[in-house]
Amino acid sequence: MADPTRPGCPRCAHGDTEHIHASPVPGVWDVLRCPRCLYMWRTSEPARRTRREHYPEGFRLTEADLANADEVPAVPPLRRAT
Ligand SMILES: [Zn+2]
Repeated sequence: MADPTRPGCPRCAHGDTEHIHASPVPGVWDVLRCPRCLYMWRTSEPARRTRREHYPEGFRLTEADLANADEVPAVPPLRRAT
């Protein structure tokens, strides 16, 4: 359920966020994560990283983008030194 005190995800506009971490000095910043696209940000970062309306258009995602996203490629085995 969306928390009205937290803004939605800057990258995909999902309405809910997860609270991951709080600043050592209480109330300075929080680290939030989007449960849909897994974007994480600290609330003290600039608006272009924390607010949907300021997030760069070229990096914005929609629900359809996420549904059609290709699988993340597997990391190949390490090459041995020759
Ligand atoms: Zn998101």
